[in-house]
Amino acid sequence: MYIGLGSNLGDRAGYIQSAVALLREKGVSVLKQSTIIETDPVGGPPQSKFLNAVVKVETQLSPLELLGQCQAIEQKLGRARTVVNGPRTIDLDILLYDRFTIDTPQLRIPHPRMFERAFVLDPLKEIESDLLETFFDARHKIR
Ligand code: AMP
Repeated sequence: MYIGLGSNLGDRAGYIQSAVALLREKGVSVLKQSTIIETDPVGGPPQSKFLNAVVKVETQLSPLELLGQCQAIEQKLGRARTVVNGPRTIDLDILLYDRFTIDTPQLRIPHPRMFERAFVLDPLKEIESDLLETFFDARHKIR
């Protein structure tokens, strides 16, 4: 399982580290953490640069429970949902959950935009270099 983290307000690196610490408190084991990279915002209004990272995790929580915990962490770290795709103290996205595919309005896994976002793909490649190849190979074979 992989979670993407992003922040472009306030103490950006601090928010990412706090979110990782809070995940650990919520029954999520963090197995690997990528380097934190700085990226240009994609979409939304003009806004300052993001820091992004990806973590590899393991948990007994179901996908929906994990989403609930991610949203609780966003709330706790003061994220206000005012502008769509606007600045945020912290954003947590579930990127992959084992080999599950989930497609509901509330939760979509794999995260629908992860494959076009360098700020997700680069950190993911760093911590799991062969994961994306395996993923695309599998998709290729299904077709
Ligand atoms: P955002 O404001 O970009 O963080 O989007 C949050 C919304 O995306 C929430 O209402 C979630 O229910 C929904 N969502 C759908 N799929 C996912 C996912 N894989 N990870 C996190 N949020 C998701």
